[in-house]
Amino acid sequence: MKNLLKKRRLDSHKGDYGRVGVIGGSTGMTGAPYLSTLASLRTGAGYAYTLVPSALENIMSIKVTEGIVRPIEDNGVGHFTMESLQDILMYIKNMDSIALGVGMGVDGDRTYIIREVIKAAKVPIVLDADAINCLSNTTHILDNHESSLIITPHPGELSKFLDISIEEIQKKRVYYSEYIAKKYNIIVVLKGHRTVVASPKSGIYINETGNPGMATAGSGDVLTGMIASLLAQGLNPFDATKLGVHLHGIAGDLAREKIGEYGMIASDIIANIPFAINSYS
Ligand code: AMP
Ligand code: MG
Repeated sequence: MKNLLKKRRLDSHKGDYGRVGVIGGSTGMTGAPYLSTLASLRTGAGYAYTLVPSALENIMSIKVTEGIVRPIEDNGVGHFTMESLQDILMYIKNMDSIALGVGMGVDGDRTYIIREVIKAAKVPIVLDADAINCLSNTTHILDNHESSLIITPHPGELSKFLDISIEEIQKKRVYYSEYIAKKYNIIVVLKGHRTVVASPKSGIYINETGNPGMATAGSGDVLTGMIASLLAQGLNPFDATKLGVHLHGIAGDLAREKIGEYGMIASDIIANIPFAINSYS
């Protein structure tokens, strides 16, 4: 894992470390894109952009200090609509990776946005949370894609996606991860104790870091930002995903050491990302 991290050259600048575009958020769900944005910066991305419905612009601008907030046309309703697409497509042209779906909400318009972003993107996309939920009844959207896709479901999201019970998925975590990875030619991250990362070509990685203190709201949004960050820094998709999952678990383990399993929250995982990275050296 240590060797997967890119060395930072003495004469480098922030443009060398990539631009992450976090696309998500809706009224009441500003924390999710905030967490992904901050996690991507803490993992070393040069820039992070938070693309949110324009009704949320002011509140996001207060929450996000180091990231850049871009308002997306939302007709004032506080979530993405069909009319959001033009702005999103304009901004993603300048991104090196995309994190799509956190706190986004689910409906036909948002499914349309996800479909069009997948069609248009030239850079790797991490599909999480409501991006996965939106795809549950429209899985054919994943049949054709040019850029690399990584989906990061927890067992509940995968259960809806496959229309199979959570119990059945948990019994055969590797089997179902690999099945989807091969069927859609995407990387699958099946989260939880011993997260499974399945690649259509490079096989399976089973993670051994992390702990039940990470079963707390926002924890997955942190992982999404971390993987997107490593992608923006130029790691190949399988390496970025494995390393993101491994580091996320170490950051969670460090948070547990300091705070304990009960009280630790997603922000504590973010605060420990730098120390997780340092633990490799
Ligand atoms: P989410 O449900 O999307 O917030 O994601 C939860 C994150 O926390 C995932 O990265 C999980 O792998 C991790 N997590 C949750 N529960 C555990 C657990 N019992 N052991 C290890 N990691 C966990
Ligand atoms: Mg989640």
